[in-house]
Amino acid sequence: MAEVIELMPRKAKERKRLEARAARRAQAVAGALACGICPRRCAYCGMAIEDQPGGRPEGTPYSLCRDCYEEYQAFLRREQGAGEPEAFWHTEQWAEMWRTWLANMRAKEAFRNSRAFFKLMSHLQD
Ligand SMILES: [Zn+2]
Repeated sequence: MAEVIELMPRKAKERKRLEARAARRAQAVAGALACGICPRRCAYCGMAIEDQPGGRPEGTPYSLCRDCYEEYQAFLRREQGAGEPEAFWHTEQWAEMWRTWLANMRAKEAFRNSRAFFKLMSHLQD
C-alpha cells in the first residue's frame, strides 16, 4: 500500500512534465507559423520593411522587402523561360530555393487554416 501511495505523486509529476513539454512544443509551432506573415517584415529575409507602407508589392503573395521582391520577380521571369540569368547566383539551386520556400509558405498557410491549428491556438489562449 505504501508503494501505491508513493507512485501517485511520481505519475502526477511525470504527467506535468510531459504537459509542460507539449506546451513548449505547441508554442514553438505557433511561433514558427507567425514568422513570415507580419506585413512589416520581409517574409523571405526577415528585414524590416520601412519603405513600403502596404508591405506587399502587387503580384507578390507575401510581404517582401524591395531586394527580395526583385529577386522574386527574377525568379518568376526565370520560371517563365527568360533567357540568360540576370545574376551569376541565379542558378538552378537558387531557383529551387525559391520553389521550396514558396511551397513551404503555402504549406504553412494550409496548416494555419486547418482545424488542428485553430484548436492549437485556442488551447494556447486558455
Ligand atoms: Zn527581404
